[in-house]
Amino acid sequence: MLKFPVLIVGAGPVGVMAAHMLSGLGVPSLVVERRLERSTAPKAHAVNSRTLEICEQVGIPARSIRQAGAAAEQAGWVHFVTDLAGTSFGSLPYERQGDTALADTPFPLINIAQPLFENLLSEHLESCPDVSIWRGCELIEYAETEAGIIATVQMRGASQPVQIASQYIIAADGAGSTMRKLAGVALEGLANLDHFLMIHFEADLSKLVEGRPGVLHFLLNQENSGVLICYEAQKTWVLMHSYDPTQETLADYDQARTHALVEQAVGKSISDLKIRNISPWSMCAEVAQSYRKGRIFFAGDAAHRFPPTGGLGLNTGIADAHNLTWKLARVLNGIGSDALLDSYQAERRPVAEINTTQSLENASTLLHLLAALFKGEGAQAEAHFLARKAAPEKYPEIAEAVELQRAHFDSFNLQIGYRYTSDALINPAPQAQSADVPTSHYIPTYAVGVRLPHWWIEQDGTRQSSHVLLSPTTFTLWLDEAALPLFTAEQKSSSAFNLVVQGRDFSDPDTSWAARTGLEETGALLVRPDGHIAWRCETLPKNPSAYTEERIDEILAAMPAPIESENKE
Ligand SMILES: Cc1cc2nc3c(=O)[nH]c(=O)nc-3n(C[C@H](O)[C@H](O)[C@H](O)COP(=O)(O)OP(=O)(O)OC[C@H]3O[C@@H](n4cnc5c(N)ncnc54)[C@H](O)[C@@H]3O)c2cc1C
Repeated sequence: MLKFPVLIVGAGPVGVMAAHMLSGLGVPSLVVERRLERSTAPKAHAVNSRTLEICEQVGIPARSIRQAGAAAEQAGWVHFVTDLAGTSFGSLPYERQGDTALADTPFPLINIAQPLFENLLSEHLESCPDVSIWRGCELIEYAETEAGIIATVQMRGASQPVQIASQYIIAADGAGSTMRKLAGVALEGLANLDHFLMIHFEADLSKLVEGRPGVLHFLLNQENSGVLICYEAQKTWVLMHSYDPTQETLADYDQARTHALVEQAVGKSISDLKIRNISPWSMCAEVAQSYRKGRIFFAGDAAHRFPPTGGLGLNTGIADAHNLTWKLARVLNGIGSDALLDSYQAERRPVAEINTTQSLENASTLLHLLAALFKGEGAQAEAHFLARKAAPEKYPEIAEAVELQRAHFDSFNLQIGYRYTSDALINPAPQAQSADVPTSHYIPTYAVGVRLPHWWIEQDGTRQSSHVLLSPTTFTLWLDEAALPLFTAEQKSSSAFNLVVQGRDFSDPDTSWAARTGLEETGALLVRPDGHIAWRCETLPKNPSAYTEERIDEILAAMPAPIESENKE
């Protein structure tokens, strides 16, 4: 029987990233993927700042993703239109793609079609040691024992299934997760809220959108409402078309009908139109009841199914993998407890709940716009809409309804401002409730549970993000050089953590350590391998290395003793 410490089920973006991260942590893994070829469905387009920060940290340069993605000038807008060539009812900026985001992240959001993003991830994975990928290989069942897990996988074309032994499984097998079903883990929330056909087509519409470029074009008309997603204006588009599966099936959408639908959405005939694929999907707002079942951990769409109105699915999944993998590595190396693995659910599930709530809210806020445009029935409704279409500027309620959509397209705080509460942190603040978490407004804080904020530092005469000093494999203790005399020469090189010292390793051109962090000059921040602040120490005591190592042991045991004086921000 083949043995791997970690078996990853599913080579979507989350499974591939998990393999990448484990490789960087020195943990071998096997990824099984039931498809022979990667999906070409464009699906996700928004790869947000946090995902880019994580990619950069694990060795996938954000620059290469930017080069493959759309330019901000092309993808920086959302439009509300009758059709692509028709009347506009209003526009909003699409997320933080410009330089203004650079105060809070080194990498503003990029629009890139999911297959292009996945290509980059896979290319980088090829150079990662200790990763095997079996394509055309489906996990069909598993059995858990005290010593580990035996998974049964079926290779396409093989007469017999194969068994694989592992210590843990990461189930990154997507929204329909076989692993979730086999493990008997239910989803909580709302299923089948709406049904869509994702019509992937190729056409060069770049001339048509020259004067009104954008990534999302919401189609508001009486015959063919939906959304056009522009991945590459010269080539890659999706029409998201709402349909009722109790009245129609996929077979009702033949080439002629689909062509007509796309041309209606675009508002003109298209000579080079090619329909690449039509796939049905249902909008759900669900989170797995449990992110862990014994030795199985659910990540990505296997753990949460968001409405796409938020662009958070893939991004949340990659942050799941980032949270989980360093913990698995510690436990597999015998320096983390099983309780540390429980903190995965405690930290990541609330994030998914908040993102589900906001994605759902975004979907329902669109109703305000529909209400402003459509009123009444029959001829009355038509007259109401036609009047607004002829002169939208005469109806201020349309602009007001467009303005209400702003948070839908600016979820910066949800993307980078989430904060954890768990036993793998020392004195975290209580869990925030969905309603108290702003969607857009991000305020950098140096509190326990948040990811260490980005700020611009100087290092060897170069302006860099503070994030370049984060280690993906070990804990980092950040402090000012004022605290350095507390350490003996020997203690400055502890094997339990890296020391990053302001004044020695970098300088802050903007403010002092105390003003930035709210700590004493001799205070410190302990940052985990995933970049989240695990402990704020107001003032380091004498023999700070031993004291810090004790805190790290508590974090890895997920049993921190409360330290009353250190719970301030
Ligand atoms: C139209 C649309 C737009 C979207 N836009 C965005 C966006 O802008 N930003 C964003 O963040 N998200 C977006 N999303 C969501 C995003 O596409 C998903 O969240 C993302 O693909 C989830 O990645 P994953 O790796 O968890 O799952 P998947 O991509 O579904 O990958 C799961 C893999 O597991 C494999 N698998 C399943 N079962 C087995 C088995 N038993 N054995 C072996 N392999 C198995 C599957 O073949 C698949 O390859 C969008 C989705 C849609 C539909």
